[in-house]
Amino acid sequence: MLLEITCSGPVLTNGILLGCSQTHKGVVIDAPPGSGEWFLKKAEQLGISIEMLLLTHSHWDHTADMAFLKKKLRVPLFVHKLDAPNLGAPGSDGLPLLTDIVPVEPDHFLEDGQQISVGKLKLEVLHTPGHSPGGVCFYLPEENTLISGDTLFQGTIGRLDFPNSSPERMWESLDKLAQLPSETRVIPGHGEETTIGKEDWLSNAKAYFGG
Ligand SMILES: [Zn+2]
Ligand SMILES: [Zn+2]
Repeated sequence: MLLEITCSGPVLTNGILLGCSQTHKGVVIDAPPGSGEWFLKKAEQLGISIEMLLLTHSHWDHTADMAFLKKKLRVPLFVHKLDAPNLGAPGSDGLPLLTDIVPVEPDHFLEDGQQISVGKLKLEVLHTPGHSPGGVCFYLPEENTLISGDTLFQGTIGRLDFPNSSPERMWESLDKLAQLPSETRVIPGHGEETTIGKEDWLSNAKAYFGG
């Protein structure tokens, strides 16, 4: 697996370039403000051909440069259906935008349990609502890796005080992540990476966060 991370934008969001080391096919997962050119350059350096654009959720700090990448690369953009409206009308979910966001339309919807192949890499979509209704994580069992978006961070979780957040759904989502093997490497939407095992509060998140 080829994996490169860029951290950019006003709230330091992680954008991820993931590629199959055998076929050199790749995907972009989240494109924070100012990351577009970085993805193009990095993919060229590594000889990765980007085949699709994936979103963990529709908040502007993750979607900002997707319109640019979609136009440049002409590849399909995927998001969960419940987060899709916020792409075409950025900020319509009630979250204030800190920067101008170009609207973009998704081409396909992500669904819980869906398997996505990128060359020989297999990504499984885990619907993990809570921070936003259509939040997802991408799980690569053969690579022992989870791309967790704003559901799980090192030592904490995504904010639950946004207009369409749901604490109850978040506890269920975290329970689901707690079932993954403890050695699973977690690459979050913000901050440093961690593992499922290090976040030993996961199965007890509701009590831990006073929910
Ligand atoms: Zn978010
Ligand atoms: Zn975020």
